Amino acid sequence: MGMARIALFVATIGSLALAACSDSPTTFGAIDEERLLDAENDPDNWLSHGRTYAEDRFSPLSDINTDNVEHLGLAFAIDLDTNRGQEATPIVVDGVMYFSTAWSKVRAVNAATGEEIWRYDTVVDGAKGAHACCDTVNRGVAVWEGKVFFGTIDGRLIALDAETGDELWDVVTVDQQQPYTITGAPRVVRGKVLIGNSGAEMGVRGYISAYDADNGELVWRFYTVPGNPADGPDGAASDAAFEQFAGETWFGDYWELGGGGTVWDSIVYDAEFDQLLIGVGNGSPWNHRVRSDGKGDNLFLSSILALDPDTGAYKWHYQVNPGETWDFTATQQITLATLEIDGEPRKVAMQAPKNGFFYVIDREDGKLISAEPFAEQNWAERIDLETGRPVEIPEARFADEPYLITPMGIGAHAWQPMSYSPVTGLVYIPVMEVPNAYADDADFTRNIGRWNTGVSFLAPPEGSVPGATPEARRAYLTSITYGKLEAWDPVNQRVVWEVRRDWPWNGGTLASAGNLVFQGLPDGSFHAYDARNGEELWTFQGERGIMAGPITYRVDGEQYVAVMAGYGGSMGMASQTDWMRRPPPNGQLLAFKLGGDAIIEPLPPLEMRPYVASEESFAPEQIAEGQAQFFAFCSICHNGPVNPDLMRSTVATDAAAWNAVVMDGILAQNGMISFAPWINAEQSEAVRAYVLTEAARRQEEEN
Ligand code: CA
Repeated sequence: MGMARIALFVATIGSLALAACSDSPTTFGAIDEERLLDAENDPDNWLSHGRTYAEDRFSPLSDINTDNVEHLGLAFAIDLDTNRGQEATPIVVDGVMYFSTAWSKVRAVNAATGEEIWRYDTVVDGAKGAHACCDTVNRGVAVWEGKVFFGTIDGRLIALDAETGDELWDVVTVDQQQPYTITGAPRVVRGKVLIGNSGAEMGVRGYISAYDADNGELVWRFYTVPGNPADGPDGAASDAAFEQFAGETWFGDYWELGGGGTVWDSIVYDAEFDQLLIGVGNGSPWNHRVRSDGKGDNLFLSSILALDPDTGAYKWHYQVNPGETWDFTATQQITLATLEIDGEPRKVAMQAPKNGFFYVIDREDGKLISAEPFAEQNWAERIDLETGRPVEIPEARFADEPYLITPMGIGAHAWQPMSYSPVTGLVYIPVMEVPNAYADDADFTRNIGRWNTGVSFLAPPEGSVPGATPEARRAYLTSITYGKLEAWDPVNQRVVWEVRRDWPWNGGTLASAGNLVFQGLPDGSFHAYDARNGEELWTFQGERGIMAGPITYRVDGEQYVAVMAGYGGSMGMASQTDWMRRPPPNGQLLAFKLGGDAIIEPLPPLEMRPYVASEESFAPEQIAEGQAQFFAFCSICHNGPVNPDLMRSTVATDAAAWNAVVMDGILAQNGMISFAPWINAEQSEAVRAYVLTEAARRQEEEN
C-alpha cells in the first residue's frame, strides 16, 4: 500500500495545479460542477461516463494518432476476479483510475502503472444474479467531490471515499423483494446522484431517482410507467404527467408485471437547456397485447424523456416505439451535439436505439429532425417527420401470424457505447444484424422473477426465408446474423464506411482527435481504425472477449488507451458460436501506450469437458416436456459460454444432485437459485432427460 501511495503521489503531482483551481475538498476525485461542465477543455481526464456531459466519447487527445498507432503496446493489465462480463467505462481523474467490475465491485488504481490504490468488494447475495437478465455486469462509477458512486446488482447505491475506498453511505434504491437489479452507471448533476435500474424482463416498474451526493437522501423520483390506479398517485415527480396525459395511454392490467420502462443505461445532462435526457426501456411483458390489451402508446416506454434536474419535473418526451412490443428499448446512448443541418446550427440529441433507426432530435423541444435506418429493419416503412411516429408494417406486430423480425430484441444496437467525432462528423456505431421469428404467446402465464415476454420464439415461418424445414430456415438465419462497425453521417443520415464482423456482439467505440476509432471484439482482439475511412491500423490480441467502451487519457504527458476485457452480457449468457465454446477466462483491465511492451499470458490449450453420457433412457413425452422447460427457463443463461454448459455438466448424470441444484437451490450463491417457484420436481427431472438426450445427440453429431 505504501508503494502504491508514493507512486500515486508522483502521478498526481502534475495535476495538483489543475485540482487547486477548482473548489474541491481533496485531490482525490476532485470533480465539481464547474470542472464537469468544462470537461471538453480537460483532455487529460475522463471525468464522466461518456467523458463529458455530452457523452460523445470523443477525446481531443492526438498524441496517439494515425501516424504512430502502429507502435501502440500494452502498458499494463490488471487481473479481475471473475469471468462474468465486464461492461464498465473507467473514470480517470488526475492520474487515478476508478472502475467497477462484474458483481458490483470497485477499484482505484494508478492510471499510469495500474498499481492498486484500494478496492471495495461489497457483498451482494449471489442469488441476485438470477434476477440479472443479462449477466451480473456493471457499467461504471461516477466521481464527484471526492466521492465515488456506483449501483449494485441488488439495487443499492453506494458512496465511497475516493481517497481510501471507505464506504460513506449506502442506500437501497428498489424494493428488494422484486426482481430489480442495477447495472447502469450513475451520473452526478448539480450535487445529485442519478440512478435507474433494470429488470423489465423479470416484471418490474421502471423509474429514475436522484439522491443527494452528500448524504444519500432521496431528492426526487420519476416513474416512467404508471402504477396500479387503485393505489393512487405515487407522490413522485411523475404524478402530474401521468394524471395529465400519460396515464390514459395504458390499458388492461399492465401493473401486474410492472409495465417495464426501466432506465438502465443512458442518463445525460444537457447544460444548454438545463435538462436531463434519459433513455427508457421496453415494456413488461414485451407483448403489447398481453401488457395493454394491444391498445395505447404506453408512455413513456421506449422514449427519450427530458426532465428538470432539480425537481424531476417532466419537460418533453420523444417516443421511438409507441405501443412497444418487441423489446425495442430507447435506453441506448444519447449523445449531445451541435450539427449544421440545412445551413443552420441545430442543438441535437442523437440516438441509435434497438429498433435500427438513427434519430436526430431537437433538444429544445424534443421534435424529430430526421430518422433513417442504420441497420436492416423490417418493422416500419419509415418514420414520419411530421408526426414523429413510425409508419409501421402491420404484420410486424405478429398478432395473427408469426413474423420474422429484424432487428430482434437484442437490437440493432445495444448498450455498447457509440462515439461521435466532431472532427470527422461521424458517429461510430457497434451494429448488430440479428433477425428472429416472433409469435404471439397465446398461453402466456406470468412468472414474476423469471423471463416474461408474451412472445414465442419460433423457427422462421415457411416462406419467410429459404429452407424447406424449420432447421434449414434457422441455419439460414444464422448465416445472415452478423455485426459491423459502422461510421454514420448523422446530418445526411447515411453510412460512410463499415467493417463487417462474423459475430453480432461487438464492442463499444472510442473516437479521438488523432483520427482514430478504437473497438474491441468478442474474440479478444482490440483494434484501431482510421476514423476517416475505416482502414485498420493496429490490432492486439488480449485473449478475452471485449465488449466495453474504451477510454483515453494522459498522465504526465503520456497518452493511454484503456478498456475492460471480459466477455458476457446477454449474448454471453444466451448464445454462442463454434469458436467461442471455451468458457471465458477471468476478465482484465487493459491499458496501452506508445512503446508499451507488457505481455498477456497466453491461455492454456483449450480442453473442452466432454458431453455427459448416460445409460438412462427416457420417454419421448418426458424429453419434449424437458425441452419446453429448458427453453422457458434454462437456455437464457446456459446457452452462451459464460455459464456452465448443461450438456457437459456431470450434475445431469445424477438425479439427486440435479434435484438438489434445480429444486433445492444449493448453488444459489452462484446465481443458480431454486426453480421450485416455477417448475415442479417432474418438470425438473424432464429437463434432465432432455439435457442427457441432447448431449447424446450432440456427441453423435460430432462423431
Ligand atoms: Ca429488455
